[in-house]
Amino acid sequence: MSRFFSSKYQALTPYTPGEQPKDLKYIKLNTNESPFPPSKRAQKLAKDAAKRLELYPDPECRELTKKLADTLGVQEDEVLLTNGSDEILNFAFMAYCDSEHPAAFADITYGFYSVFAQINNVPYVEIPLTEDFRINVNAYLGIGKTIFIANPNAPTGISLKKAEIEEILKSNPDNIVVIDEAYVDFGGDSCVSLINKYDNLLVTQTFSKSRSMAGARLGFGVGNKELIRDLNTIKYSTNPYNINRMTMAAGLGVLMDNDYTVKNCKTIIENREFTRCELKKLGFTILPSDTNFVFAKSDKISGGELYQKLKENGILVRHFDKERICEYNRITIGTKKQMQALISCIKSILEDK
Ligand code: PMP
Repeated sequence: MSRFFSSKYQALTPYTPGEQPKDLKYIKLNTNESPFPPSKRAQKLAKDAAKRLELYPDPECRELTKKLADTLGVQEDEVLLTNGSDEILNFAFMAYCDSEHPAAFADITYGFYSVFAQINNVPYVEIPLTEDFRINVNAYLGIGKTIFIANPNAPTGISLKKAEIEEILKSNPDNIVVIDEAYVDFGGDSCVSLINKYDNLLVTQTFSKSRSMAGARLGFGVGNKELIRDLNTIKYSTNPYNINRMTMAAGLGVLMDNDYTVKNCKTIIENREFTRCELKKLGFTILPSDTNFVFAKSDKISGGELYQKLKENGILVRHFDKERICEYNRITIGTKKQMQALISCIKSILEDK
């Protein structure tokens, strides 16, 4: 740390992203990316957009916003596109949290929430998941704080029903409830249709998972137009050109090729069920998953050791040190071939024990 670093950030613990090895020798099942390339049209449009990189991109992102709003069945002034959904989540912390509006989120959830709270100087409470790793709905009822819920949750993979989210929304009418739907396309129940029923609801989603665009950084928020106006105030006060030309073009291509996204999600769900069955046969405990990953543990090998042995064998999964979940690994669902390789590797690791 330099002697110039502001004291307000000196105690900050930054988010730790999953490993991104430079070589391609790993089967990469650690950061919940799609194993499939972006759609052909997305690639072509991004390539064409690269020819005009001397010009700033459209700060209003008009064409993509219109296409996205049509796809979601909402109005254009009810969505805001951002640089990954991390950006809209940070905007929500900036816009809706302060000392009078502390944040509340689960003790086991997306690790960035506590970092956003810290960097924005927001007090927060972490609400324990239940024994079986579910969001404890009752603990959020009338809590009077700005609530952040990943639905489905990560790294557990378990989701809440829309009716349960509605209970939370109804019981906190004076607080914003942010529903982070990064993984909703793999079996979750989206709350987008509720944005005009509850003026305190903000839904966030991403192009990084089901839409194969993690490398392009594109996410968005959906809410009533007053909320979107607030979030635009934050955007235009930080980075008006938050989405670059190539990403904007690729996003449009992905939405035009929606059938491709739907087909890929279907394949991932099939591969997830295959992986779940095979891990079960090997004696693993696996949490129910509505996502493109599974959270699994074995009583034959510790979570840390399995992570390490898989890595030595060229397979990366995600392991968290947190006490409650350190026996588990989060395994991203890839192609069938990748999952077959994972299973046979785990088999031989267990046989060697
Ligand atoms: N929410 C959750 C629950 C996530 O797991 C992630 C991905 N790490 C994000 C949001 C952010 O994704 P992105 O910024 O790539 O849209």
